[in-house]
Amino acid sequence: MTDQSHAPIAFIDLKAQQSVMRAELDAAIAGVLDHGGYLHGKEVHALEAALAARANVQACIACSSGTDALLMVLMAEELGPRDAVIVPAFTFVATAEAVVLAGATPVFADIDAETYNLTPETLEAAIAHAKSAGLTPRGVIAVDLFGLPAPHHAIAEVAAQHRLFVLDDMAQAFGSKLDGVPLGGFGKAAATSFYPAKPLGCYGDGGAVFTNDEAYAAILRSIRQHGELSRYENDRIGITGRIDTIQAAVLGVKLRYFDDELAARDRIASAYTAALAGVIQTPVHSATIEQAWAQYTVRCDSQAAREHLRAICAARNIPTQIYYPIALADQKAYAKFPSADISVARHCTETVLSLPFHPYLSDAQMSRVIEAVHTAFPS
Ligand SMILES: *Cc1c(COP(=O)(O)O)cnc(C)c1O
Repeated sequence: MTDQSHAPIAFIDLKAQQSVMRAELDAAIAGVLDHGGYLHGKEVHALEAALAARANVQACIACSSGTDALLMVLMAEELGPRDAVIVPAFTFVATAEAVVLAGATPVFADIDAETYNLTPETLEAAIAHAKSAGLTPRGVIAVDLFGLPAPHHAIAEVAAQHRLFVLDDMAQAFGSKLDGVPLGGFGKAAATSFYPAKPLGCYGDGGAVFTNDEAYAAILRSIRQHGELSRYENDRIGITGRIDTIQAAVLGVKLRYFDDELAARDRIASAYTAALAGVIQTPVHSATIEQAWAQYTVRCDSQAAREHLRAICAARNIPTQIYYPIALADQKAYAKFPSADISVARHCTETVLSLPFHPYLSDAQMSRVIEAVHTAFPS
Protein backbone atom coordinates (compact mmCIF):
# COMPACT_ATOMS: atom_id res chain seq x y z
CA MET A 1 0.00 0.00 0.00
CA THR A 2 2.62 2.45 -1.08
CA ASP A 3 1.45 6.04 -1.33
CA GLN A 4 1.95 6.75 -5.03
CA SER A 5 1.52 10.46 -4.42
CA HIS A 6 4.41 12.82 -4.30
CA ALA A 7 2.78 15.06 -1.72
CA PRO A 8 5.17 16.55 0.82
CA ILE A 9 5.31 14.62 4.10
CA ALA A 10 5.52 16.70 7.29
CA PHE A 11 8.66 15.99 9.34
CA ILE A 12 6.56 16.59 12.47
CA ASP A 13 2.83 17.18 11.90
CA LEU A 14 1.42 19.49 14.56
CA LYS A 15 -1.61 20.34 12.40
CA ALA A 16 -2.75 16.71 12.32
CA GLN A 17 -2.49 16.58 16.10
CA GLN A 18 -4.44 19.81 16.47
CA SER A 19 -7.32 18.54 14.40
CA VAL A 20 -7.86 15.72 16.91
CA MET A 21 -8.12 18.03 19.95
CA ARG A 22 -8.99 21.47 18.56
CA ALA A 23 -12.33 21.91 20.36
CA GLU A 24 -10.78 21.07 23.73
CA LEU A 25 -7.85 23.41 23.06
CA ASP A 26 -10.18 26.28 22.19
CA ALA A 27 -12.17 25.72 25.39
CA ALA A 28 -9.03 25.49 27.56
CA ILE A 29 -7.55 28.71 26.13
CA ALA A 30 -10.90 30.49 26.46
CA GLY A 31 -11.01 29.42 30.10
CA VAL A 32 -7.76 31.28 30.80
CA LEU A 33 -8.99 34.38 28.96
CA ASP A 34 -12.13 34.25 31.11
CA HIS A 35 -10.43 34.03 34.51
CA GLY A 36 -7.49 36.26 33.57
CA GLY A 37 -4.79 34.57 35.66
CA TYR A 38 -2.23 34.68 32.88
CA LEU A 39 0.60 33.62 35.18
CA HIS A 40 0.33 31.27 38.21
CA GLY A 41 -3.20 30.36 37.07
CA LYS A 42 -4.94 27.24 38.31
CA GLU A 43 -3.98 25.45 35.07
CA VAL A 44 -0.31 25.84 36.04
CA HIS A 45 -0.86 24.17 39.40
CA ALA A 46 -2.94 21.42 37.80
CA LEU A 47 -0.21 20.85 35.22
CA GLU A 48 2.52 20.62 37.87
CA ALA A 49 0.49 18.08 39.84
CA ALA A 50 -0.24 16.00 36.73
CA LEU A 51 3.38 16.05 35.55
CA ALA A 52 4.76 15.17 39.00
CA ALA A 53 2.34 12.23 39.17
CA ARG A 54 3.33 11.00 35.70
CA ALA A 55 7.03 11.30 36.49
CA ASN A 56 6.43 9.77 39.93
CA VAL A 57 8.38 12.54 41.72
CA GLN A 58 7.68 14.78 44.71
CA ALA A 59 7.82 18.13 42.93
CA CYS A 60 7.41 19.64 39.49
CA ILE A 61 8.30 23.27 38.80
CA ALA A 62 6.83 24.32 35.46
CA CYS A 63 8.80 27.08 33.77
CA SER A 64 9.44 29.16 30.67
CA SER A 65 11.50 26.69 28.58
CA GLY A 66 13.69 23.63 28.69
CA THR A 67 16.76 25.86 28.62
CA ASP A 68 15.49 27.81 31.63
CA ALA A 69 14.70 24.53 33.40
CA LEU A 70 18.36 23.52 33.01
CA LEU A 71 19.53 27.01 33.94
CA MET A 72 17.45 27.18 37.13
CA VAL A 73 18.94 23.90 38.40
CA LEU A 74 22.48 25.03 37.56
CA MET A 75 21.86 28.40 39.26
CA ALA A 76 20.69 26.53 42.37
CA GLU A 77 24.08 24.77 42.41
CA GLU A 78 25.88 28.14 42.81
CA LEU A 79 28.73 27.36 40.41
CA GLY A 80 31.76 29.43 39.50
CA PRO A 81 34.08 29.65 36.47
CA ARG A 82 36.49 27.02 37.86
CA ASP A 83 33.63 24.56 38.32
CA ALA A 84 33.21 22.05 35.50
CA VAL A 85 29.94 20.49 34.41
CA ILE A 86 30.35 17.52 32.07
CA VAL A 87 28.12 17.72 28.99
CA PRO A 88 27.89 15.34 26.02
CA ALA A 89 29.33 16.84 22.82
CA PHE A 90 26.42 15.46 20.78
CA THR A 91 23.24 17.22 21.93
CA PHE A 92 21.18 20.36 21.34
CA VAL A 93 23.23 23.45 22.19
CA ALA A 94 21.03 24.42 25.16
CA THR A 95 22.58 21.68 27.31
CA ALA A 96 25.96 23.45 27.24
CA GLU A 97 24.53 26.96 26.95
CA ALA A 98 22.81 26.67 30.35
CA VAL A 99 26.15 25.78 31.98
CA VAL A 100 27.78 28.91 30.57
CA LEU A 101 24.81 31.10 31.53
CA ALA A 102 25.05 29.75 35.09
CA GLY A 103 28.67 30.92 35.25
CA ALA A 104 30.37 27.52 35.12
CA THR A 105 32.56 25.80 32.50
CA PRO A 106 31.18 23.03 30.28
CA VAL A 107 33.58 20.16 29.58
CA PHE A 108 32.59 18.00 26.63
CA ALA A 109 32.37 14.22 26.78
CA ASP A 110 32.06 11.66 24.01
CA ILE A 111 29.03 9.46 23.42
CA ASP A 112 28.24 5.86 22.56
CA ALA A 113 27.86 5.12 18.84
CA GLU A 114 24.66 3.08 19.24
CA THR A 115 22.77 5.00 21.94
CA TYR A 116 24.14 8.51 21.19
CA ASN A 117 24.27 9.01 24.98
CA LEU A 118 27.02 9.37 27.58
CA THR A 119 28.57 6.20 28.97
CA PRO A 120 30.33 5.71 32.33
CA GLU A 121 33.62 5.52 30.39
CA THR A 122 33.14 8.74 28.44
CA LEU A 123 32.04 10.45 31.66
CA GLU A 124 35.20 9.24 33.46
CA ALA A 125 37.37 10.47 30.59
CA ALA A 126 35.75 13.92 30.69
CA ILE A 127 36.12 14.14 34.48
CA ALA A 128 39.85 13.36 34.10
CA HIS A 129 40.09 15.95 31.34
CA ALA A 130 38.40 18.61 33.48
CA LYS A 131 40.86 17.96 36.29
CA SER A 132 43.83 18.12 33.93
CA ALA A 133 42.53 21.51 32.79
CA GLY A 134 42.66 22.71 36.41
CA LEU A 135 38.89 22.65 36.94
CA THR A 136 36.82 21.15 39.73
CA PRO A 137 34.25 18.71 38.34
CA ARG A 138 30.98 19.51 40.10
CA GLY A 139 28.24 17.99 37.99
CA VAL A 140 27.17 16.11 34.89
CA ILE A 141 24.24 16.67 32.57
CA ALA A 142 23.02 13.31 31.27
CA VAL A 143 21.00 13.83 28.08
CA ASP A 144 18.39 11.26 27.01
CA LEU A 145 18.97 11.91 23.32
CA PHE A 146 16.12 11.32 20.88
CA GLY A 147 14.10 9.97 23.83
CA LEU A 148 16.42 7.07 24.73
CA PRO A 149 17.20 7.09 28.46
CA ALA A 150 20.87 7.56 29.30
CA PRO A 151 22.43 4.74 31.39
CA HIS A 152 21.33 6.48 34.58
CA HIS A 153 22.31 3.74 37.04
CA ALA A 154 25.89 3.57 35.77
CA ILE A 155 26.16 7.36 35.53
CA ALA A 156 24.91 7.70 39.12
CA GLU A 157 27.70 5.37 40.30
CA VAL A 158 30.45 7.35 38.60
CA ALA A 159 28.91 10.62 39.77
CA ALA A 160 28.77 9.40 43.39
CA GLN A 161 32.44 8.37 43.28
CA HIS A 162 33.40 11.86 42.14
CA ARG A 163 30.76 13.69 44.22
CA LEU A 164 29.04 15.16 41.17
CA PHE A 165 25.42 16.20 41.01
CA VAL A 166 23.48 14.65 38.12
CA LEU A 167 21.08 16.79 36.11
CA ASP A 168 18.99 14.75 33.68
CA ASP A 169 18.33 16.69 30.46
CA MET A 170 15.15 14.85 29.48
CA ALA A 171 13.99 17.55 27.06
CA GLN A 172 13.50 14.85 24.40
CA ALA A 173 12.36 12.12 26.74
CA PHE A 174 9.30 13.10 28.75
CA GLY A 175 7.29 9.86 28.79
CA SER A 176 10.30 7.54 28.50
CA LYS A 177 10.90 4.87 31.13
CA LEU A 178 14.02 3.00 32.26
CA ASP A 179 13.37 -0.43 33.85
CA GLY A 180 9.73 0.59 34.20
CA VAL A 181 10.63 3.81 36.07
CA PRO A 182 9.55 7.06 34.38
CA LEU A 183 12.29 9.62 33.75
CA GLY A 184 12.10 12.59 36.09
CA GLY A 185 13.38 10.86 39.22
CA PHE A 186 16.89 10.06 38.00
CA GLY A 187 19.53 12.46 39.27
CA LYS A 188 19.21 15.35 41.71
CA ALA A 189 16.86 17.06 39.26
CA ALA A 190 15.57 16.51 35.73
CA ALA A 191 14.70 19.19 33.18
CA THR A 192 12.28 18.87 30.30
CA SER A 193 11.01 21.06 27.45
CA PHE A 194 7.58 21.68 25.98
CA TYR A 195 8.92 23.25 22.78
CA PRO A 196 6.23 22.55 20.15
CA ALA A 197 8.13 19.76 18.38
CA LYS A 198 9.00 17.77 21.55
CA PRO A 199 6.98 14.62 22.31
CA LEU A 200 4.83 16.70 24.71
CA GLY A 201 4.83 20.23 23.29
CA CYS A 202 2.86 23.41 23.88
CA TYR A 203 2.16 26.25 21.41
CA GLY A 204 5.12 28.40 22.36
CA ASP A 205 7.87 27.91 24.92
CA GLY A 206 7.60 25.97 28.14
CA GLY A 207 9.53 23.57 30.33
CA ALA A 208 9.64 21.93 33.73
CA VAL A 209 12.01 20.73 36.43
CA PHE A 210 11.41 17.56 38.45
CA THR A 211 12.96 16.74 41.81
CA ASN A 212 12.30 14.54 44.83
CA ASP A 213 13.87 17.11 47.19
CA GLU A 214 11.25 19.55 48.54
CA ALA A 215 13.83 22.00 49.88
CA TYR A 216 15.52 22.06 46.47
CA ALA A 217 12.11 22.60 44.83
CA ALA A 218 11.58 25.67 47.02
CA ILE A 219 14.90 27.11 45.82
CA LEU A 220 13.94 26.42 42.20
CA ARG A 221 10.56 28.14 42.66
CA SER A 222 12.38 31.13 44.11
CA ILE A 223 14.82 31.26 41.16
CA ARG A 224 11.84 31.03 38.78
CA GLN A 225 10.53 34.30 40.26
CA HIS A 226 13.58 36.62 40.51
CA GLY A 227 14.99 34.85 43.57
CA GLU A 228 12.07 35.97 45.69
CA LEU A 229 11.76 34.59 49.19
CA SER A 230 8.41 36.32 49.53
CA ARG A 231 6.91 39.07 47.41
CA TYR A 232 9.55 41.76 46.72
CA GLU A 233 12.03 40.19 49.14
CA ASN A 234 14.94 38.81 47.11
CA ASP A 235 17.47 36.52 48.75
CA ARG A 236 19.13 35.19 45.59
CA ILE A 237 19.60 35.97 41.91
CA GLY A 238 16.79 34.56 39.80
CA ILE A 239 15.15 34.90 36.40
CA THR A 240 11.72 35.48 34.83
CA GLY A 241 11.16 31.77 34.57
CA ARG A 242 7.39 31.35 34.78
CA ILE A 243 5.26 29.41 32.30
CA ASP A 244 2.24 31.16 30.73
CA THR A 245 -1.08 29.85 32.05
CA ILE A 246 -2.30 29.55 28.44
CA GLN A 247 0.57 27.15 27.68
CA ALA A 248 -0.24 25.16 30.81
CA ALA A 249 -3.86 24.95 29.64
CA VAL A 250 -2.71 23.66 26.23
CA LEU A 251 -0.51 21.05 27.89
CA GLY A 252 -3.40 19.97 30.12
CA VAL A 253 -5.38 19.08 26.99
CA LYS A 254 -2.44 17.43 25.24
CA LEU A 255 -1.72 15.27 28.30
CA ARG A 256 -5.11 13.57 27.81
CA TYR A 257 -3.87 12.25 24.46
CA PHE A 258 -0.27 11.64 25.45
CA ASP A 259 -0.52 7.92 26.24
CA ASP A 260 -2.22 7.25 22.91
CA GLU A 261 0.47 9.28 21.16
CA LEU A 262 3.26 7.40 22.94
CA ALA A 263 1.70 4.12 21.83
CA ALA A 264 1.49 5.40 18.24
CA ARG A 265 5.11 6.57 18.37
CA ASP A 266 6.21 3.16 19.57
CA ARG A 267 4.20 1.38 16.89
CA ILE A 268 5.67 3.58 14.13
CA ALA A 269 9.24 3.26 15.43
CA SER A 270 8.89 -0.53 15.59
CA ALA A 271 7.53 -0.64 12.03
CA TYR A 272 10.40 1.52 10.76
CA THR A 273 12.92 -0.71 12.50
CA ALA A 274 11.34 -3.94 11.23
CA ALA A 275 11.61 -2.63 7.66
CA LEU A 276 15.02 -0.96 7.90
CA ALA A 277 17.15 -3.16 10.17
CA GLY A 278 19.98 -4.62 8.12
CA VAL A 279 19.66 -1.86 5.52
CA ILE A 280 20.89 0.96 7.73
CA GLN A 281 21.78 1.31 11.41
CA THR A 282 18.45 1.65 13.20
CA PRO A 283 17.98 3.08 16.72
CA VAL A 284 18.38 0.96 19.85
CA HIS A 285 15.24 -0.84 21.01
CA SER A 286 15.47 -2.50 24.39
CA ALA A 287 13.14 -4.65 26.47
CA THR A 288 14.04 -2.66 29.59
CA ILE A 289 13.28 0.72 28.05
CA GLU A 290 10.13 2.53 26.93
CA GLN A 291 10.90 5.41 24.63
CA ALA A 292 9.10 8.65 23.85
CA TRP A 293 10.85 8.60 20.44
CA ALA A 294 11.44 12.34 20.03
CA GLN A 295 13.23 11.45 16.79
CA TYR A 296 13.72 8.34 14.70
CA THR A 297 17.39 8.61 13.81
CA VAL A 298 19.30 6.21 11.58
CA ARG A 299 23.02 6.09 10.86
CA CYS A 300 24.73 5.60 7.51
CA ASP A 301 28.16 4.06 6.90
CA SER A 302 29.69 7.31 5.70
CA GLN A 303 28.96 10.96 5.10
CA ALA A 304 28.68 10.23 1.34
CA ALA A 305 26.09 7.52 2.02
CA ARG A 306 24.09 9.96 4.14
CA GLU A 307 24.13 12.62 1.43
CA HIS A 308 23.00 9.97 -1.06
CA LEU A 309 20.03 9.02 1.16
CA ARG A 310 19.19 12.69 1.84
CA ALA A 311 19.10 13.45 -1.88
CA ILE A 312 16.84 10.49 -2.67
CA CYS A 313 14.45 11.52 0.11
CA ALA A 314 14.45 15.16 -1.00
CA ALA A 315 13.63 14.18 -4.59
CA ARG A 316 10.58 12.31 -3.26
CA ASN A 317 9.34 15.21 -1.10
CA ILE A 318 10.42 13.40 2.06
CA PRO A 319 11.98 15.80 4.58
CA THR A 320 14.93 14.69 6.70
CA GLN A 321 16.94 16.48 9.38
CA ILE A 322 20.47 16.19 10.71
CA TYR A 323 20.46 16.18 14.52
CA TYR A 324 23.22 17.32 14.99
CA PRO A 325 25.54 18.47 12.19
CA ILE A 326 28.27 19.94 14.43
CA ALA A 327 29.64 18.57 17.71
CA LEU A 328 29.30 21.22 20.43
CA ALA A 329 33.06 21.30 21.05
CA ASP A 330 33.48 22.28 17.37
CA GLN A 331 30.94 25.12 17.49
CA LYS A 332 32.55 28.54 17.26
CA ALA A 333 30.99 29.73 20.51
CA TYR A 334 32.04 26.61 22.44
CA ALA A 335 35.48 25.79 21.01
CA LYS A 336 37.16 27.62 23.89
CA PHE A 337 35.86 25.15 26.49
CA PRO A 338 37.75 21.97 27.37
CA SER A 339 36.85 18.78 25.55
CA ALA A 340 37.81 15.16 26.02
CA ASP A 341 38.35 13.07 22.87
CA ILE A 342 34.99 13.20 21.06
CA SER A 343 35.73 11.15 17.95
CA VAL A 344 32.50 9.12 18.19
CA ALA A 345 30.42 12.31 18.48
CA ARG A 346 32.18 13.75 15.42
CA HIS A 347 31.58 10.57 13.44
CA CYS A 348 27.88 10.75 14.34
CA THR A 349 27.59 14.36 13.14
CA GLU A 350 28.68 13.10 9.72
CA THR A 351 26.50 10.00 9.49
CA VAL A 352 23.17 10.38 11.36
CA LEU A 353 19.87 11.25 9.70
CA SER A 354 16.46 11.70 11.32
CA LEU A 355 13.45 10.51 9.33
CA PRO A 356 9.90 11.97 9.34
CA PHE A 357 8.38 10.93 12.64
CA HIS A 358 5.24 11.84 14.56
CA PRO A 359 2.25 9.95 16.01
CA TYR A 360 -0.01 10.80 13.05
CA LEU A 361 2.30 9.47 10.31
CA SER A 362 0.14 7.27 8.06
CA ASP A 363 1.10 3.77 6.93
CA ALA A 364 1.23 5.08 3.36
CA GLN A 365 3.63 7.86 4.32
CA MET A 366 5.78 5.44 6.29
CA SER A 367 5.93 3.13 3.26
CA ARG A 368 7.21 5.98 1.10
CA VAL A 369 10.02 6.67 3.58
CA ILE A 370 10.92 3.00 3.84
CA GLU A 371 10.96 2.64 0.07
CA ALA A 372 13.28 5.64 -0.25
CA VAL A 373 15.78 4.05 2.14
CA HIS A 374 15.60 0.74 0.27
CA THR A 375 16.15 2.57 -3.02
CA ALA A 376 19.20 4.34 -1.59
CA PHE A 377 20.71 1.12 -0.27
CA PRO A 378 19.48 -1.84 -2.39
CA SER A 379 20.43 -5.19 -0.87
C1 LIG B 1 14.94 21.14 23.15
C2 LIG B 1 16.08 20.85 24.02
C3 LIG B 1 16.49 21.72 25.04
C4 LIG B 1 15.94 23.11 25.21
O1 LIG B 1 14.58 23.21 25.33
P1 LIG B 1 13.86 24.63 24.98
O2 LIG B 1 12.51 24.44 25.54
O3 LIG B 1 13.89 24.77 23.51
O4 LIG B 1 14.63 25.71 25.66
C5 LIG B 1 17.51 21.31 25.88
N1 LIG B 1 18.13 20.14 25.72
C6 LIG B 1 17.79 19.28 24.73
C7 LIG B 1 18.51 17.98 24.63
C8 LIG B 1 16.77 19.61 23.85
O5 LIG B 1 16.45 18.77 22.86
